[in-house]
Amino acid sequence: MRDSRALLVRSGTDFPPLRRRPTTILQVNLGYRCNLSCVHCHVNAGPTRTEMMSAETADLVIEVLRRGQIETLDLTGGAPEMSPHFRRLVREARALGVTVIDRCNLTILLEPGYEDLPAFLADQGVQVVASLPCYLEENVNKQRGKGVYAASIEAIRRLNRVGYGGESLILDLVYNPVGAHLPPPQAGLQEDYKRELAARFDIHFNRLLTITNMPISRFGAVLLAHHQFDDYMQLLRNNHNPANLDDVMCRNTLSVDYQGYLYDCDFNQMLGLAQGGAGRHPHLREMLQGDKDGEPVYVADHCFGCTAGAGSSCGGALA
Ligand code: SF4
Ligand code: SF4
Repeated sequence: MRDSRALLVRSGTDFPPLRRRPTTILQVNLGYRCNLSCVHCHVNAGPTRTEMMSAETADLVIEVLRRGQIETLDLTGGAPEMSPHFRRLVREARALGVTVIDRCNLTILLEPGYEDLPAFLADQGVQVVASLPCYLEENVNKQRGKGVYAASIEAIRRLNRVGYGGESLILDLVYNPVGAHLPPPQAGLQEDYKRELAARFDIHFNRLLTITNMPISRFGAVLLAHHQFDDYMQLLRNNHNPANLDDVMCRNTLSVDYQGYLYDCDFNQMLGLAQGGAGRHPHLREMLQGDKDGEPVYVADHCFGCTAGAGSSCGGALA
């Protein structure tokens, strides 16, 4: 697999410099183990990955939450639910009044040993953000693997059954393009998804979040293999919208890897770009002393993926 990193991280990027604001969202990667191995996965997660967060680092996450500054704990992976510390982190965060997001791949809900997961998530009032890259079966299976579509539909059904997709329990779906193009407008696609999923399966969700594919990791390698990398980067640059700079994730989100090291965002984590870019690697324990407010963000060419068109973040389009 070819790596796009060297093409993206170069001295003198023309992406504008950015500085952090107060951190209100802690996005924590609990490890790279996952029951799937999707084509677009920017963490190259899969069933054979062994890198998982330790109990000590999970304790540190809770200590940082106790300081009271963090409003949202965003749990990701891999499949975050596969971490032995997932439920403890959820319970502790919720007891502190922190909003918890579970970035769920849906199919994990059907795996043996996870049957009670929907009830647990509902009980704790966790927001579920789940990938469903298309409402059409063929496109989902192409991107995520055979049988993933049917499993995802069944998982949404189970979440609906415990109250998700209604007024009190949030179930948001994530769309990302199957090919080397920008996502279509979020509002129109959300309507299509809602109509089609209700008509075909009588299943329901709250919001659709459109996310631009980042030219890194597995998707970067696919672009390189198909000789589409330069064209895709040009597409991102041509659609750069400076208005989105105000809202990109790295302004208020701090990304934490399974060992507790800090990054300005999840994408930088995958590229190994340490938070701040000052030649050292900050660790979560520093958040016990103070915030990173005002520190520079480590930007590189992939950042155009966040500002192109309607913009893109873990919360969907920015504009
Ligand atoms: S489900 Fe998510 S974490 Fe797992 S392989 Fe797919 S994209 Fe990666
Ligand atoms: S890729 Fe990360 S660092 Fe770059 S603009 Fe997006 S959120 Fe910020």
